[in-house]
Amino acid sequence: MRERVQEVWAKRPIIISGPCSAETEEQVIETAQRLAATGKVDVLRAGIWKPRTRPGMFEGIGTKGLPWLQQAKKLTGLPVTVEVATAKQVEDALHFDVDILWIGARTTVNPFSVQELADALKGVDIPVLIKNPVNPDLELWSGAVERVARVGVKQIGLIHRGFSNYGNTEYRNAPMWHLAIEMKRRNPGMLMICDPSHISGRRDILQDVSQKSIDLDYDGLMIESHIDPDKAWSDAKQQITPEQVGEMLASIVWRKEDVNSEAYHEALEKLRQQINHLDDEMMQLLGQRMKIADKIGEYKRDNNITILQTNRWNEILERGFKRGEKIGLSKEFITRYLDAVHMESINHQNKVMNS
Ligand code: PEP
Ligand code: MN
Repeated sequence: MRERVQEVWAKRPIIISGPCSAETEEQVIETAQRLAATGKVDVLRAGIWKPRTRPGMFEGIGTKGLPWLQQAKKLTGLPVTVEVATAKQVEDALHFDVDILWIGARTTVNPFSVQELADALKGVDIPVLIKNPVNPDLELWSGAVERVARVGVKQIGLIHRGFSNYGNTEYRNAPMWHLAIEMKRRNPGMLMICDPSHISGRRDILQDVSQKSIDLDYDGLMIESHIDPDKAWSDAKQQITPEQVGEMLASIVWRKEDVNSEAYHEALEKLRQQINHLDDEMMQLLGQRMKIADKIGEYKRDNNITILQTNRWNEILERGFKRGEKIGLSKEFITRYLDAVHMESINHQNKVMNS
């Protein structure tokens, strides 16, 4: 099995699937068999200990579920992975031959817990996947990676499962792709897996989120699956059947970061030159815009007028939205762009007024 795990760790894309929670032996085994039958899944996942937001929810079957995973592995050949949050859970998981461990989002946030796990992993040769913390804090995520790496764990991977946000949005956990991209940039070569299930929280956007991650050159997916999703004891809304996992994987367009074609590289190089050129021009224009803002700042200073004039700001936004819409720029982008430009103008004017 060790060899199989090494193979799987190096495989692209690496696909992990299985129930949010192990519920019964039959459920675990049937899930594993139906996932294996798709021929597209590399690792079986199952939550044994579940960190739940409110007490009284199903908190996991506990250690007694580990032999079920052993049995599922024996029957299907799929290596297994579980979430661990305490030293005792690490000990139990290792005792029952779990092949890959993962640290959950609610654990990554807590350096005490991560250190406890790291201490329990000292001298243990097992791959560990580390989910992003629930809050959008890359330092915490990096800190967890460092703690685990420092005790000598050699194979560390990352799982992007989105970040908590206030109020209702389209996602259960906002993806904030830019944070995961930055984490990838900081850890070149480290496995980066997307967990579309916890990002989406619902079935209908699972495929879109998965495709987006593959377009961003992620190394694989962790997808929750259940033999009877609506009856799942946890996260029912986001689980799909093993067959649906197979269908979804079949309809994803798998992309690679690079190809060995000269024509492709030449064409891309030309387009990139054009982009560089346009970026330079836009930078020039922004510089000119700030010079005008400085002039306005002088007038405002000489006439004792406030820098921020809400009416004018609204006017700028409205104009931006109208023009943006015509040329296919989203309202969200226009807002962020104008906001940044406006802040820079205000800073410029501040300097003029107080100099
Ligand atoms: C899970 O994978 O079932 C889980 C609890 O995920 P997260 O840590 O991302 O909330
Ligand atoms: Mn879950």
